[in-house]
Amino acid sequence: MYQFKHRAALQEAIAQEKKAGKRIGFVPTMGALHEGHISLIRTAREYSDIVVCSIFVNPTQFNDPKDFEKYPITIQEDILQLTAAGTDILFLPAVAEMYPEGVNGRHPHYDFGYLETVLEGAYRPNHFQGVGIIVHKLLDFVQPDDLFMGQKDFQQCMIIKKLLEITQIPAKLHIIPTLREKNGLAMSSRNMRLSAEERQTAAVISQTLRHIKAGVGDTPFPELLQNARKHLQDAGFQVDYVAIAAADDLEILQQPAIGRPMVALVAAKLGEVRLIDNMLL
Ligand code: AMP
Repeated sequence: MYQFKHRAALQEAIAQEKKAGKRIGFVPTMGALHEGHISLIRTAREYSDIVVCSIFVNPTQFNDPKDFEKYPITIQEDILQLTAAGTDILFLPAVAEMYPEGVNGRHPHYDFGYLETVLEGAYRPNHFQGVGIIVHKLLDFVQPDDLFMGQKDFQQCMIIKKLLEITQIPAKLHIIPTLREKNGLAMSSRNMRLSAEERQTAAVISQTLRHIKAGVGDTPFPELLQNARKHLQDAGFQVDYVAIAAADDLEILQQPAIGRPMVALVAAKLGEVRLIDNMLL
């Protein structure tokens, strides 16, 4: 696996591969890798001649400075996992490489519209602008044919779909199902910050989503969501939201939308750690 810290060297290596007609697959991450990330790499491996992964903890997408400071970093283990999974190129830039204009410099503003005003958008001001800024830069550098992202970050996938439309970047977005621990907890780098006991408690999020899925046909949504919120609170969570939305545009639903796919989404804090998860209904 080749490792690059600088944009110029990365672009030169990728340009050579492209000249040779190779199909480039890209998996952007913030590191502290787990099996969920690796499943993205494996899927990319199936589609692509050259698999590029980036590890960059992007400061502009953290609305909570504590969350940024405490974000886990495990580069040596990450490199071992990526190598074992058959990654060809790892891009590991420093902040100054990604933000020569400065983190607080002038950045583009993306019109994500309604998508940026609900759920994660409402609870994490500017988060999706930060995501847009960094993914746009990374896509410019890597110019992938295929881009692989996790359904775990459902709203983020929709934002990236919109970013691809806005920027007219011709990469194809592939959305990969969420990998879970045996107890149902969605794998996440932030799980590393949970104690063994909290990891058990955290499984209540996926239990709650399964309850919603089971009840969606015969229980009114407000009752279903109120029960879900109570279930989470009783387990010790501080709940940001539990919602049912249309899966194609995230319209918040109070009743079933006939003929439209639906998704239940949760964001809740356990101690200092904020967790998100979702399930298609
Ligand atoms: P992150 O490093 O958390 O920014 O995640 C990098 C990519 O991995 C994103 O596209 C995530 O949606 C995806 N991802 C994170 N957790 C999981 C998971 N449990 N299963 C599948 N993909 C995931």
